[in-house]
Amino acid sequence: MITSSRITTARKRRGLTLAELSTRVAVSVQSLSNYERGRTEPTPDTLARLAAALDFPESFFFQPDLEPIPLDAVSFRARSKLAAGPRDAALWASRLALELHSWIEDRFRLPANDIPTLGRPDPETAAEMIRARWGLGTAPISNMVHLLEAHGVRVFSLPPEYADVDAFAMWRDGTPFIFLNTLKTPERGRFDAAHELGHLILHGEDRTLAGPQAEQEANAFASAFLMPRSSVIEHMPKTPLVQQILRGRRIWKVAALALTYRLHDLDMLSDWHYRRTCIELGKLGYRRGEPSGMPGRESSQLLDKVFTAMKSKGMTLHHIARDLHVSPEELSSWVFGLIVTARSGRTSASTDPVTREGRPRLSLVQ
Ligand SMILES: [Zn+2]
Repeated sequence: MITSSRITTARKRRGLTLAELSTRVAVSVQSLSNYERGRTEPTPDTLARLAAALDFPESFFFQPDLEPIPLDAVSFRARSKLAAGPRDAALWASRLALELHSWIEDRFRLPANDIPTLGRPDPETAAEMIRARWGLGTAPISNMVHLLEAHGVRVFSLPPEYADVDAFAMWRDGTPFIFLNTLKTPERGRFDAAHELGHLILHGEDRTLAGPQAEQEANAFASAFLMPRSSVIEHMPKTPLVQQILRGRRIWKVAALALTYRLHDLDMLSDWHYRRTCIELGKLGYRRGEPSGMPGRESSQLLDKVFTAMKSKGMTLHHIARDLHVSPEELSSWVFGLIVTARSGRTSASTDPVTREGRPRLSLVQ
């Protein structure tokens, strides 16, 4: 017996409508709809064509039902502007990435959740509270992904084929997750990570994550978390020149425009200077990207340790993909840009699972 909902999962993961899939596999929309509703089963030949068209191994369709991530559980930015196809594809990729997370959790003891939900203090206060809680003082954050992982947030990637889907955060069974768009500049990636942390803290498990006010609060949190007030006052002159902003952004590893915004926010740039600086930075290309910015993206410490530990047991990404009944490319899309290489060695499989009780602890540094 195949699991009918898995056909829907695979189709939505690929961002396809029933009509589009129908054309690809030369099966009527009505038949596809019947398969997805469990009214009829595809023949083995049809299933093989579906599996090929959707790029999932046939075994994928015989696994248990996967309950979807509810749309209101996530904090997509500009959610209304996003078309349903890419949105569903990103949500289902994230849902499948949760399977990898369970797989990892069965084998390793991961850092416990250390993300407090603080009620609703103003974002600036929340940023100071979390910095104090994590012993960060006012020092620049050296690596946002490592920091999040060390405090129990699980970080995965959004599928790289949907460049305009923004990062999002969600809680699931008491575990915080952040899915990052890893195609942006490294500075923007750090800001996104801090923005999503803001959602987790300010708009916790029982609160709604969406809406313009939530967005504004998460941005204010990210700005204050990455660029603490006292640190900016200490390192930047009042009314700095563009060149000073371009040097200053390196202290906090932020985009030039993000620092400019923060300086205005802290009354270190007048409205007039702020607008002028933004125009000048725009002319220099700082709206489209981050010229001479950080050399590389932040990668995941947790995933790197997991894949390295598995590799030492002779288990590569290909083996893990097979365990999860997906292609290695599918699995790679969940960690795209977060691990340095695909680590697809050719060592032979030794799939002795580590028992849950004997799971080695993954110790991460912030
Ligand atoms: Zn947001």
